[in-house]
Amino acid sequence: MGRITFRRLEDLEVAGKTVLVRADLNVPMQGGRVTDSTRILRLLPTLQYLVKKKARIVLLSHFDRPGGIFVPSLSLSPLVDAISEALGGRPVQFGVDCVGPAAREAVARLKPGEVLLLENLRFHPEEEKGDVQFARDLASLGDVFVNDAFSCSHRRHASITGIASVLPSAVGRLMEEELHMLQRIFSKTARPVAAIVGGSKISSKLALLENLTSVVDVLVIGGAMANTFLYAEGYDVGKSLVEKSLKNTAKNILARAGKKGCRIVLPVDVVVARSLESQRGNKVVGVDHIPAWGIAADIGPATVKLFCEAVIPCKTAVWNGPMGAFETAPFDSGTIMLARYIALLTGKKQLRSIGGGGDTVAALARAGLEDGFSYLSAAGGAFLEWLEGKELPGVAVLERASRKARSRA
Ligand code: ADP
Ligand code: MG
Repeated sequence: MGRITFRRLEDLEVAGKTVLVRADLNVPMQGGRVTDSTRILRLLPTLQYLVKKKARIVLLSHFDRPGGIFVPSLSLSPLVDAISEALGGRPVQFGVDCVGPAAREAVARLKPGEVLLLENLRFHPEEEKGDVQFARDLASLGDVFVNDAFSCSHRRHASITGIASVLPSAVGRLMEEELHMLQRIFSKTARPVAAIVGGSKISSKLALLENLTSVVDVLVIGGAMANTFLYAEGYDVGKSLVEKSLKNTAKNILARAGKKGCRIVLPVDVVVARSLESQRGNKVVGVDHIPAWGIAADIGPATVKLFCEAVIPCKTAVWNGPMGAFETAPFDSGTIMLARYIALLTGKKQLRSIGGGGDTVAALARAGLEDGFSYLSAAGGAFLEWLEGKELPGVAVLERASRKARSRA
């Protein structure tokens, strides 16, 4: 990866201007409350700079996957208080739509140094389609654009690539830090490299694993992601979260990994539960004994040991996706035990460890292990794609913009 230079916040005229900031406010929430504000706190350097410069700040973000329609439970409105609190009590306005008259009026009311959060971008199907007119409608709300959502920059969505093609653009502080740190860490990657992948976004991440096997030496698969692989190997996974239609993709990954010099490590035991919320009646079973009623909610103790041992010979470990449904104890055990061990190896300078992903970072924060890793990225899927050496569309568009600006200068 060559070093790329981008236009930074300082390179934009922002004083008194309306600045559109694409953020990733897809924070962990439960019952309409923010349960982990890491992503909000990491946005502060950009927000504080813009407040100080007396810019009018318009925050754009998606939340979860409403599928292009208004879903009340996926509104960004509960974030207003959390953002305001992070900004030391500075009031934050809310716009009930991200485009159209409601958005325009909310922006028009904004005074220099004030912050406005607009409603979930994905309530409009045009966002994920990368619709050009929708991007223009968004862009018409502001004078300049700041992308501070590295974690979404692998998506060719209207708010990521579209606005940047229309307005003068720059990278935000968080995205700048992410790119800088990842470039630094991976410019000379110490081998062997282990990738630990878990979580539940199976359909969007499983295909990435195919390429990842060409890049890493060991691929450890846990969490709900592992269920599809266990299913592909012929195991009965009961009522576990599984993507049966991806059976053949999983099979191919397993069959080809060896030829690429990548060892794949799958769970040998799991904690099964009757529901992901229930703490009663759980038990540890071998992966060949998952009962028909069972949901594999976490990796078992033998798997924790196996995964730790797989990391020992490695010099670098990258991790995206929790090993279990960590939001409910005790299904956080596998994730915490593995994280503690990685933190231990990192502390002894035996390992360079990079964690990425909203939920992964939340799980590590829950275990008090934020400082135990060499670096934590807010990005999950984008981080995996970056690792594979893929060009991220959201990064590429800013790069082109910066080249153009330089040649004009
Ligand atoms: P990240 O946000 O770090 O990229 P994902 O969004 O892919 O990670 O996955 C996180 C989610 O995966 C969490 O909500 C967690 O509860 C869920 N998860 C992990 N393992 C399991 C499992 N075995 N069964 C159900 N859900 C799981
Ligand atoms: Mg997630």
